[in-house]
Amino acid sequence: SARLDDFDPEIATAIGAELARQRGTLEMIASENFAPLAVMQAQGSVLTNKYAEGYPGRRYYGGCEHVDAVEQIAIDRIKQLFGAEAANVQPHSGAQANAAVMAALLQPGDTILGLDLAHGGHLTHGMRLNFSGRLYKVAAYQVGEDDHRVDMEQVRKLAHEHRPKLIVAGWSAYPRQLDFAEFRRIADEVGAYLMADMAHFAGLVAAGLHPSPVPHAHVVTTTTHKTLGGPRGGVILSTAELAKKINSAVFPGQQGGPLEHVIAAKAVAFKMAAQPEFADRQRRTLEGAAILAERLLAEDTKAAGVSVLTGGTDVHLVLVDLRHSELDGKQAEDRLHRIGITVNRNAVPFDPRPPMISSGVRIGTPALAARGFGTEEFTEVADIVATAFLPGFDDQVAAALRRRVQVLTDRFPLYPVDPQLVAE
Ligand code: PLP
Repeated sequence: SARLDDFDPEIATAIGAELARQRGTLEMIASENFAPLAVMQAQGSVLTNKYAEGYPGRRYYGGCEHVDAVEQIAIDRIKQLFGAEAANVQPHSGAQANAAVMAALLQPGDTILGLDLAHGGHLTHGMRLNFSGRLYKVAAYQVGEDDHRVDMEQVRKLAHEHRPKLIVAGWSAYPRQLDFAEFRRIADEVGAYLMADMAHFAGLVAAGLHPSPVPHAHVVTTTTHKTLGGPRGGVILSTAELAKKINSAVFPGQQGGPLEHVIAAKAVAFKMAAQPEFADRQRRTLEGAAILAERLLAEDTKAAGVSVLTGGTDVHLVLVDLRHSELDGKQAEDRLHRIGITVNRNAVPFDPRPPMISSGVRIGTPALAARGFGTEEFTEVADIVATAFLPGFDDQVAAALRRRVQVLTDRFPLYPVDPQLVAE
């Protein structure tokens, strides 16, 4: 029963240092967020001790009465949140949710059609080294060379040519909304299932600020830790008709015991996602991304060859286009890191630079919105980022920008109650 810091000071110190890093920097990785205290309390609970193979009311272990209640609440809440007929809340991650759906609906060797990784798709949408690219034949749609948007006529053409059994509508790096109704029409034309992967934009959907794929897709997968703001994990929503197949693909098909402590934390996050404060946070998330895009399209950054893919954003992220800039993706990421802003470099479609260098940066606003940022703060952040990308960046400019970052982090304290002390 020793405390962590007494028993294992090495790990305790690293966790403490990570908390300090999160508090002292501006987190702008588009897939990240800050789990609220209540979510972390549920995740750090005694539910981690319990085996519960099976589903509520049908378990292969005794003593499941309380975890049954937890998992059923999680299922009911997410069905209600997204208007879905069925939900499986057991996938340990977004990747496992996608693996389970494909295992449920496909045979190895079947064809899937997803967005090319180099154009904003996810690894699990058919990347060569991923299970999805190894088990299934892959056809990939891309964004247009001029407008960088998904072209539904190309999707239709590829679908008719390759006759996929599953079409994936979703992305990890794309700044616009997809046309789910049109994806479904195309899927119906070729007799394919439509899987929407809303991992990135689920929080926006929950808040009613982004079209929902749920009425259109046979299956919708999501992570719970991105815009949704919960614990790391995955969820599968489906029609009632497919629920049984999906459930048995998750357990016993892919996983053993569910992480009931994470499922409890998911339930807490789903409750939060139904509150007005959550909708306001998603509204600020979108506003922040729009402010950033606008600032990065101003005359001074244009002169430096910096631009924004698609000329703006409809979602929680901006894709900075550095193809015409002296600055490459790696240098841009390093510059922002130096002034206390965390982002990730990202290849842009048709990128002339190699992937490890790349010509883009993906910048997202969900974590800063969770921290409380609004119009004024995002305007300041956008100016800091834009200034860092301009020629003339030197030690002096870096120090001045770092101070401006610190003013913001000081004004919006993260985890004012130390989350490591919650259990006391
Ligand atoms: N799907 C999409 C669209 C994603 O962006 C991600 C995460 O980056 C995943 C799935 C996988 O989620 P996880 O990292 O939880 O496996």
